[in-house]
Amino acid sequence: MNVVLFGPPGSGKGTQAQFIVERFGIPQISTGDMLRSAVKAETPLGIIAKSIMEAGGLVSDDVVLGLVKERISLADCTLGFILDGFPRTIAQADALNALLAGIGKKIDYVISLDVENKELINRLSGRRTCPACGKGFHILYNKPKREGVCDSCNTSLVQRDDDSELTVVNRLMVYEQQTSALKAYFKDLGVLHSISGSGSISDIQSQICSIIDVGGVGDRP
Ligand SMILES: [Zn+2]
Repeated sequence: MNVVLFGPPGSGKGTQAQFIVERFGIPQISTGDMLRSAVKAETPLGIIAKSIMEAGGLVSDDVVLGLVKERISLADCTLGFILDGFPRTIAQADALNALLAGIGKKIDYVISLDVENKELINRLSGRRTCPACGKGFHILYNKPKREGVCDSCNTSLVQRDDDSELTVVNRLMVYEQQTSALKAYFKDLGVLHSISGSGSISDIQSQICSIIDVGGVGDRP
């Protein structure tokens, strides 16, 4: 069972990916991790990728797809895998489908965690972090005992640049630009399942289980 997971920043995608890994016993494949480990292990593709990155270039789709192919050929992917952060473009999705077809596999489920932008902005821009001990808080959902101060070490909490409202809005725009066409693409293939990422973690987990356990058709094109 091969899964692609989509979800904007703040949607809880990482938590749900971890859940799928544990519940279904399939590994999570992120292209960033794959690149780093290929470079470290000095595989042929890793050596190519390293020279490109050291020259300040972007690793091409061919190299990334080669890494995906290497990774999903490993024994732990026999039952399936969950792709995170890939594909990002229609060209990558096409190439991925062709690669999988060539080895008798396919993408079975594309699960998209959908959360309204307003809620995502609340979730992300309310985050506060302790610069001393790294502990995370939220001004609405996980308040510190004393406003603006770390519970553990009494240091004043800060908002990371990544969580400022302007940055958050930009990150969400980039996400939307990248994924709207991809979602339509997978919808046409009948494998897109959009679920609400607004409920509790366990609500979302049971929605994911009902998709994967029951199978069936995706969102209607
Ligand atoms: Zn602290």
